Amino acid sequence: MIDPAVVAANVARVRERIRAAGGRDVSLMAVTKGVAPDSIAAVRLAGVTILGESYAQELLDRRSAFEGAQLHFIGRLQSNKVRLVAPLVDCWESVDRPAVATEISRRSPGAAVMVQVNVTGEPTKGGCSPSETAAMVTHCQEAGLSVTGLMAVGSSAGPEAARPGFARLRALVDQLRLSECSMGMSDDLEIAVQEGATMVRIGSGLFGPRPVPRPGPTVGPK
Ligand SMILES: *Cc1c(COP(=O)(O)O)cnc(C)c1O
Repeated sequence: MIDPAVVAANVARVRERIRAAGGRDVSLMAVTKGVAPDSIAAVRLAGVTILGESYAQELLDRRSAFEGAQLHFIGRLQSNKVRLVAPLVDCWESVDRPAVATEISRRSPGAAVMVQVNVTGEPTKGGCSPSETAAMVTHCQEAGLSVTGLMAVGSSAGPEAARPGFARLRALVDQLRLSECSMGMSDDLEIAVQEGATMVRIGSGLFGPRPVPRPGPTVGPK
């Protein structure tokens, strides 16, 4: 059970970090992966209106916690999961391949999307390459989707290592005449704000450290 006062203090602290980094009109998304419904309620009570979910099943399992909020999907998108969560999602931030864009346009015609860009080149990260981004945006638009901006994840090598990638994302947003630039997480939000983020996505900075994923079921002695 989380203390709502702690969550409210965390929200205030994150907003202050954004402000101290020079952020004006930067939206704050609360990333709710692995977070219990009462924590989601607490962050909403503290005034956060945009929630981000990474896993379709987690979203479906506690869907009532998201009712009335603006829900962004930010995880790896499997085409077969799009249909299940489409009625709940207001913006798809992790669109990185044509098949997924096509599926979203079938299940949620005209939906708001962002194209995810892999700005660090790390193979474990989602996103299309910077050079594919313009074509991906065009594909989404031709499918009737409303492309509001671009999204990226920083560098595994730490906050300062994320800076060139964030600058690259901001340059692409401007070049493609989009408006939203979704970048920056708990550890690198200052760098992202300095490089022109319009939205930061914060999980552990609001809810505390996520529990380490449990190992698979252990088979005990018979
Ligand atoms: C988990 C996650 C976040 C939030 O990460 P924190 O370090 O907990 O702030 C932001 N964006 C994406 C895409 C994520 O998967």
